[in-house]
Amino acid sequence: MLNCRQVTDRASDYLDEALPFGERVQMRLHLMLCHHCRRYLRQLRAIVRALPGLPKTAVSEDTVRQVVHRLKNQ
Ligand SMILES: [Zn+2]
Repeated sequence: MLNCRQVTDRASDYLDEALPFGERVQMRLHLMLCHHCRRYLRQLRAIVRALPGLPKTAVSEDTVRQVVHRLKNQ
């Protein structure tokens, strides 16, 4: 089974439905058992949905990196 670090590393591909079937199944199994990763995925999904509505110059790449780092370390 995947550990939490492996899940967060694959989270973007999971949301983009870009993971192979086997990894997708492993992700779902982990997500059924781990509320931390479910919360992380929920937050990542919210960010992905919110980003298109923001002006492209409003958030620097450094700020995005800091937000992602903080979400990963919650
Ligand atoms: Zn987890």
